[in-house]
Amino acid sequence: LTGNRSVRYILNLMTWGDAVREATTPDQVTGEFRLRFRRWASEAFPAEWRTEWFASIFPPGDQDQRATERSRETHRILHEAGWIAPGWPIERGGRGCGLAERVIIAEELATLRVPRPIGFQGIDLLGPTLIEHASEAQRSRFLPRILSGDDLWCQGYSEPDAGSDLAAMRTTARRVLGGYVVAGRKVWTSYGSRANWCFLLARTGSRESRHRGLTFFLTPMSAVGVSWRPIRHLAGGVDFGELLLDDVFIPDENVVGAAGEGWRLAMSSLGHERLMAANVSATRVRLDSLREMAEPARMRPAQRARLAELSLRLECVEELQRQAMSDGASGSPAFAYRAALLKVAASEIRQGVAQLAVAIIGQPAVTASRYGMPVDAADPAAVWAHEMLDSKSATIYAGTSEIQRNIVAELALGLPRG
Ligand SMILES: Cc1cc2nc3c(=O)[nH]c(=O)nc-3n(C[C@H](O)[C@H](O)[C@H](O)COP(=O)(O)OP(=O)(O)OC[C@H]3O[C@@H](n4cnc5c(N)ncnc54)[C@H](O)[C@@H]3O)c2cc1C
Repeated sequence: LTGNRSVRYILNLMTWGDAVREATTPDQVTGEFRLRFRRWASEAFPAEWRTEWFASIFPPGDQDQRATERSRETHRILHEAGWIAPGWPIERGGRGCGLAERVIIAEELATLRVPRPIGFQGIDLLGPTLIEHASEAQRSRFLPRILSGDDLWCQGYSEPDAGSDLAAMRTTARRVLGGYVVAGRKVWTSYGSRANWCFLLARTGSRESRHRGLTFFLTPMSAVGVSWRPIRHLAGGVDFGELLLDDVFIPDENVVGAAGEGWRLAMSSLGHERLMAANVSATRVRLDSLREMAEPARMRPAQRARLAELSLRLECVEELQRQAMSDGASGSPAFAYRAALLKVAASEIRQGVAQLAVAIIGQPAVTASRYGMPVDAADPAAVWAHEMLDSKSATIYAGTSEIQRNIVAELALGLPRG
């Protein structure tokens, strides 16, 4: 941060500090926080974005240039105002916000139809891991470029035979002079075409060492031996793909933490990310949009009943989210299973809302869907048809519904492992 931007940033922080000092109870603090954020955000983001039914939850693949540009613009606006990484500590360029404030921010941005910033993987996934575990040299090298969006990161964890069971991964990292040589094949690597860096796990121990033998690496996508092949997904986009690592040399300076500590690093921010990955606020905006589009009075009785059921379930999920946030703040062990429960419930409601919308629209939703083409934002049939397909991934990424249910079974119900 230099020049005027740093002055603006400090002034901004001071004003927000006042808001917290003036308020006396936690509810007043968060209420005041919401009002101030809303005031800022509604002026900062273009009003015409608000005319859309809802914003996409993740930035789209390269096939949709307009929506990709919007995600870039979001990153720029949030970064310039010091809001790009609200959960990071202030001294690292964040705002030091707790979960409650982060959820408020997500809700306000979803209401204004603001998409995720283009560099969200660096901000939400890698950044917190570097802040907690990286050397000072690595932090000062990488964090500012994550904040500015100059570096875009992709995540190389999953492999063809290691998804839910990540510890089964086969990609190896062989010790050589000054670093490691990494060889293997990753899959479902999102945004590999636009990322210029990748954070990945590879095996430095034996296969039998499972999660204890993994190490956390950073590599430029331009390194010799790195290649990425797109895979087109159900909704027609090409945002994820296959990452091939063909004897890639990774110097010691790009190893985060000690050899064999990769699992601990990768898991450290997972619980909080699961809570954010539930995307409760985005689900709320979708349900409200459906109500607006469908005019309940004109719906068939069975559809009205389904809408009522989804609405009630979402209210329960919003309450569950409040409980999970207070568990997270107090360090309660209940946080882990509440966050898992929230991810299952919210992603299934999102799918239910999209299916109901498509059922109400009927045949136009089938004919409006143009596989692999940018979605026509002005056409509700096209938007909801795409949402129905896109929402299918929500019960897979960030841990499948079955895995979340296993967590609930073990931690909440005390059932035996597996
Ligand atoms: C849109 C999208 C983006 C993604 N982006 C990335 C990315 O950027 N980087 C990355 O590394 N990965 C990414 N992933 C991969 C994602 O993390 C994996 O798909 C997920 O972990 C599941 O692994 P899998 O696909 O190998 O399925 P598997 O683990 O093979 O599971 C197959 C089925 O078996 C079930 N199952 C597996 N184990 C159990 C069990 N113990 N008990 C009960 N049921 C079980 C699963 O629930 C699932 O239904 C992405 C996935 C999606 C959908």
